[in-house]
Amino acid sequence: MTLGAWDAQGVGAVVVGERRSIVGGNWKMNTDLAAAVELADNVVAGCQALLSECDVAVFPPFPYLQAVGRALGNHGLLLGAQDVYHQPNGAYTGEVSSAMLLDLNVQIVLVGHSERRHVIGEDNELVNTKVRASLESGLHVILCIGETLEQRQAGRTNQVNVAQLVAGLQGVGTEQMRQVTVAYEPVWAIGTGQTATPRDAVAVHRVVRRTIADLYDEDTAGSVRIQYGGSVTASNAADLFAEPEIDGALVGGASLEADQFMGIVRAAVES
Ligand code: PEP
Repeated sequence: MTLGAWDAQGVGAVVVGERRSIVGGNWKMNTDLAAAVELADNVVAGCQALLSECDVAVFPPFPYLQAVGRALGNHGLLLGAQDVYHQPNGAYTGEVSSAMLLDLNVQIVLVGHSERRHVIGEDNELVNTKVRASLESGLHVILCIGETLEQRQAGRTNQVNVAQLVAGLQGVGTEQMRQVTVAYEPVWAIGTGQTATPRDAVAVHRVVRRTIADLYDEDTAGSVRIQYGGSVTASNAADLFAEPEIDGALVGGASLEADQFMGIVRAAVES
């Protein structure tokens, strides 16, 4: 599998300390076909000029992947899927394999999003299986981790995030880490309007990076991009991106409005 235009933009050549930001728009179970294509058209029009300095991905609902992929064309935006199943094919009613996603030119997939973990009930073991299957198929993975409010209040933030990270990356080789981005998304910040302070986000990002260094090596840890996610908007993005530890954002609600989303991408480029 080739990352095509993405590779050509230099993602494969990330240098320690010079990580290229990545902003993703997770549309969740929103839009209809016409609205998805219109949103994709608007995002292409608004982001095209910024793609030399930032990776931008959109994650539409499964049924609209093909139409959104057409709208994205060859402009350099990444087509992403919100989830994937680890089996290649067979009697798994309702599931979608990485081969099917690759057929639609999907390049990047979310795994372990908090809504998959806490609403659908995915555990660390399933998340890890999906991570490994996706990487083996050649997809780039955004591994999502994050603590609940109760876990934070109980002083377990680092413990929970490290456990999710270590479990999610089990069996993932050093080379494959080039295909991995981590999204730190505190559950209490997702869709609540309650963004983590840059200081709180950075504290966890440092722990994540240190854990990757322990699991792999310093170069790998320095190259892996760590996004923040949780109520990021065009108004608060610049403060978050001013932190060198924060390599972009995974955006839910604000990605449904092209202007808001472009404001976030612009903030990433200007940081
Ligand atoms: C998300 O879905 O990953 C997310 C961060 O959502 P929101 O931006 O709406 O908090």
